[in-house]
Amino acid sequence: MELSERQNKIIEIVRANQPITGEDIAQRLSLTRATLRPDLSILTMSGLLDARPRVGYFYVDKGVSNLTGEHIKKLKVADVKSMPIVISEGQSVYDGIVTLFLEDVGTIYVVKDGYLSGVVSRKDLLKNAMGKNDLEAIPIDVVMTRLSHIIYVEEHTSVYEAMAKIINYQVDSLPVVKKVITDGKELLEVVGRFSKTNIAKLFLEMAEGK
Ligand code: ADP
Repeated sequence: MELSERQNKIIEIVRANQPITGEDIAQRLSLTRATLRPDLSILTMSGLLDARPRVGYFYVDKGVSNLTGEHIKKLKVADVKSMPIVISEGQSVYDGIVTLFLEDVGTIYVVKDGYLSGVVSRKDLLKNAMGKNDLEAIPIDVVMTRLSHIIYVEEHTSVYEAMAKIINYQVDSLPVVKKVITDGKELLEVVGRFSKTNIAKLFLEMAEGK
């Protein structure tokens, strides 16, 4: 929204003198209260000013909400990640379901020789549990999302980027990995889990001023 010169002046006056009454603002600008009314309406409706009955006008500091954004951009995944819950390739879909319940998570990571090879979510397991399959006979690697399709983050990734990945790829969690080069091949060691719960916890803590 493009502000008029007068509207900008009003904002300056309110910022410097808040709370300030409409009458006071009018006096400082040598205008009548009635002349000022449309400008004050526009500024309050657009959220730049806040009007409180019998108190006056306040400037709504957009900088405050930006502070939240800045804070999230500075935070690293390492600051908020949880422990990863892993299962080995070769274990069964049944083992996966048991692990999901015992560890109380929605996603488990599959490892092969200690390195990430897949991701299994609630729905992956549910899909297989719906048929008359022998869940103990189906290896977890048959139902998992494979390495080449996995969206992951590293400990130094910003929380902001991790949040964007969760939303853009529509997944509930991201494995946190450490890249290891072995025999010229890049392998991913699983060192954590970054999930929607981590995001909710972070916002709760920020709301509580921690
Ligand atoms: P669900 O749909 O079970 O509630 P998700 O939305 O996280 O859980 O998973 C949807 C699909 O995406 C599943 O097939 C799962 O294997 C896969 N998936 C989950 N997390 C990831 C990830 N980080 N990278 C790639 N695929 C994932």
